[in-house]
Amino acid sequence: MIVLMLGAPGVGKGTQADLLQKEKNIPHLSTGAMLRNAIEIQSPTGIIAAEYVNSGRLVPDSVVTALVKESLESEAFANGCILDGYPRNSSQATELDDILQKLGRKIQVVINIFVPEETIVKRMLERGRKDDTEDVIRHRLVVYRNETAPLLDYYGQQGKVVTIDGDNTVHSVFGKIQDVLSA
Ligand code: AMP
Repeated sequence: MIVLMLGAPGVGKGTQADLLQKEKNIPHLSTGAMLRNAIEIQSPTGIIAAEYVNSGRLVPDSVVTALVKESLESEAFANGCILDGYPRNSSQATELDDILQKLGRKIQVVINIFVPEETIVKRMLERGRKDDTEDVIRHRLVVYRNETAPLLDYYGQQGKVVTIDGDNTVHSVFGKIQDVLSA
């Protein structure tokens, strides 16, 4: 099963994907986490990615897609995965289609978690990650609106999107996701 988590930065995609990973025993694939790790260990990918991640811009598609492709082709992800943070724009969505087609796999469902922007900013400032300063957060929200949100139409036309109200407790949001997956 391939589940795609969509929604603006800070809506809780990563937290929910972690819970889902534990419950369903399907690995969580977070490009943000992979990039932060690459930056920390100063790998060649990390060295390229740092300036983008720290300023809230999208890392070049080729860099991120290579990470995703390598993961999806590996044995660890053979039974599916929860994709979180990828795709982030229409060309990544096309590349993902291409990778999945070659593997004979499909996205089952796209979970769109929605939280009002002002709540997101408040939550992210509390989270306090290095790229969670107010300016960078605002920029990431603009990038989301312009580049990522249009993917809701792309997957919506395929009848795959389920929108969930994320302005609630972690537990209650997870309950709604469980309902969607068992439906
Ligand atoms: P996230 O943890 O998903 O909020 O991602 C943190 C940062 O990593 C983003 O602001 C981007 O700079 C970078 N990033 C994560 N996923 C992608 C992606 N699919 N394409 C480009 N950049 C990404």
